[in-house]
Amino acid sequence: METLDKEKFNYNLEERVRKLIKKYKLLENGEKVAIALSGGKDSILTMFILNNLCNEFNLQLVAISIDEGISGYREKGLETARKYADLLEIELIEKSFNEEFGLQLDQIHSLYKSACIPCGVFRRHALNKAAHELGADKLATGHNLDDEVQSYLMSFARADFRRFSKFGPKLDRIHPQLVPRIKPLWRIPEKEVGIWAILNEVEVHFAECPYSQKSLRAKVKTYLNRLEEDYPSTKLNILGSFEKTFKPNKTLIELFKCEKCGEASSLSICKACEMIENINKNLTNKFSKL
Ligand code: SF4
Ligand SMILES: [Zn+2]
Repeated sequence: METLDKEKFNYNLEERVRKLIKKYKLLENGEKVAIALSGGKDSILTMFILNNLCNEFNLQLVAISIDEGISGYREKGLETARKYADLLEIELIEKSFNEEFGLQLDQIHSLYKSACIPCGVFRRHALNKAAHELGADKLATGHNLDDEVQSYLMSFARADFRRFSKFGPKLDRIHPQLVPRIKPLWRIPEKEVGIWAILNEVEVHFAECPYSQKSLRAKVKTYLNRLEEDYPSTKLNILGSFEKTFKPNKTLIELFKCEKCGEASSLSICKACEMIENINKNLTNKFSKL
């Protein structure tokens, strides 16, 4: 069996990311880029690639890790994040749901059909807030091709067409307080990210979140993997269909400042603050019945 040449593999992977960055103008010269660093293989690879591109684009990098409060899972990811940020001498800012919202995901996940619902809202809020406070021009996330195709099909299945404007490798600035998000691994399959980690002996956090199995995403993921096995390139073809019809949303929509936390919001109270209110009501009702 032919063995993979590490140097060739790394070069090829990086070149495809560089091509995407240039095609979609994900980076501008001299920008400060905040990397959402969970400690998983995708975010670690994103940090390594951006670090390699630092000189070419004259970038200033900083990483942000969020502790959602998932015991037995997040600690390992945070350890990995610290280890590799330290290795590359990139400053790591650590935030937590506890510090930001006064809660842990473990305490509130059962109030929702899927833990990913509050987790996604709170994480996006905390990441954007931290990136904005750091004066970042871009917020880079580790979303890979599989993540994007899964999200695309999930929105399609829910007829949630408003979310389509949130896909694509770059989300432009639609409000001064919202840091534009970029996805450098947008065309890189998850399998290749795994191969990169193994070939380069990167000790990443491969464990799955304990809440992931209950989500719609997990089912879509299994389905897509089966389809890919029988019909190779299915995922890339789905992304290709999306790319052909995709129109970046450059409309500056009217956003307000959330009355409670001051972050950008399409309503007078942002989604995260609305969730906190509902969680507190739910918890009060639960305990008053005890
Ligand atoms: S799988 Fe869901 S609950 Fe777990 S970290 Fe990801 S979004 Fe959060
Ligand atoms: Zn708010």
